[in-house]
Amino acid sequence: METTPAFGGLDCRDCEEYFSAEEATHRCPECGGILDPTYDYEEIALSQADLEARSFDGMWRYEELLPFPEEASVTMEEGTTPLIECPGLAAELGVAEVYIKDEGRNPTGSFKDRGHALAVSAAAQRGTSDVALASAGNAGQAASAYAARAGIDSHVFLPSRSNFVNKAMVNVHGGDMTVVEGRLSDAGAAAEDAISEHDWYSTATFVTPYRHEGKKTMYYEIAEQLDWDVPDAVFYPTGGGVGLIGMYKGAREFERLGLGEGIPRFYAAQSAGCAPVVEAWEEGNDQHDAWETPDTICGGIEVSDPGASPWILEALRESDGGAVATPDEDILDSAIAVAQQEGLEIGATCAAAASGAWKLAADGEFGGEETLVLLNTAAGNKEDDILRSHLMRKGI
Ligand SMILES: *Cc1c(COP(=O)(O)O)cnc(C)c1O
Ligand SMILES: [Zn+2]
Repeated sequence: METTPAFGGLDCRDCEEYFSAEEATHRCPECGGILDPTYDYEEIALSQADLEARSFDGMWRYEELLPFPEEASVTMEEGTTPLIECPGLAAELGVAEVYIKDEGRNPTGSFKDRGHALAVSAAAQRGTSDVALASAGNAGQAASAYAARAGIDSHVFLPSRSNFVNKAMVNVHGGDMTVVEGRLSDAGAAAEDAISEHDWYSTATFVTPYRHEGKKTMYYEIAEQLDWDVPDAVFYPTGGGVGLIGMYKGAREFERLGLGEGIPRFYAAQSAGCAPVVEAWEEGNDQHDAWETPDTICGGIEVSDPGASPWILEALRESDGGAVATPDEDILDSAIAVAQQEGLEIGATCAAAASGAWKLAADGEFGGEETLVLLNTAAGNKEDDILRSHLMRKGI
């Protein structure tokens, strides 16, 4: 495989065994744990000035901190999304500054592109013929797009409730789509069966070691876009926690490389209709209990059994952050408020982050001087029907 100079291999989060990227492709061969890419940070000489001198043209501007070089990767200039100041929101929340990191500006309209750029790059380097996964929708769309670019076949398992745009675009990219009756866990079971039967290359959440690795670049960009000031808090609409764990890792890396002082508080925001991480956080547990009857309109974060919860909870604890759940009604109201006050289109799922920040602000979590960053993980118009129906229920 073609790898970058400082990239070492993959560390198991559970048994601490270490594997080369050739040896291990997915979960730990010894214990089944999650694998995490590692680097020799002493090898990486990267200053703020070095990064400022590079154009803002996609996530391979952080090539030294990625496992594969740009020339050996499947990329569409994903990343380098804008960080947009929202003064009206800051006033409402009673803090100094609020920014929205708008991941809707990615090639397929969500941050899932960052993870799939790396996961499909790894698959392509191994000469994989087929990738497969189950997804709530956006990851499946990203997988089919990146697979198409790499000339690889894709097999995407979506629950029947997935957004229409996701189903449509999997077809448009030439992906093989299976719509599974039920929820994400049902699609997951169907995908697992098919993957083991056909020996397809999985790009599922925390099955491939590379999705959180791609998403860590969101933090690098936020730090640079704030002129190297570390924000006080980052709010993330949390399902499986891939992006939150990625950003936590990215923040630790920047701190270690001397590219930022300290790390922000990370907050996991969920819907009250499916909040296993928030429940574990509130009970002081090290891992979640599966949520029995997930029921939220926010499909992207309806993950009842997030397998990486110990790592998510560690990130919240170690960063002095927290977890917050709000009802769907409040989440949708937040999406509408942001669209009407700031002009920004944020998805229903993503609005969990805004809604969570709103709730904590009302509960007195902030002192007034903070800079908050909210992740808008996908374009608002991916869930336009949900937002419009919410208005209709209000008679508008
Ligand atoms: C996938 C997704 C999420 C949740 O991502 P995780 O990293 O699994 O927590 C949030 N928002 C949107 C729009 C998504 O597609
Ligand atoms: Zn292991």
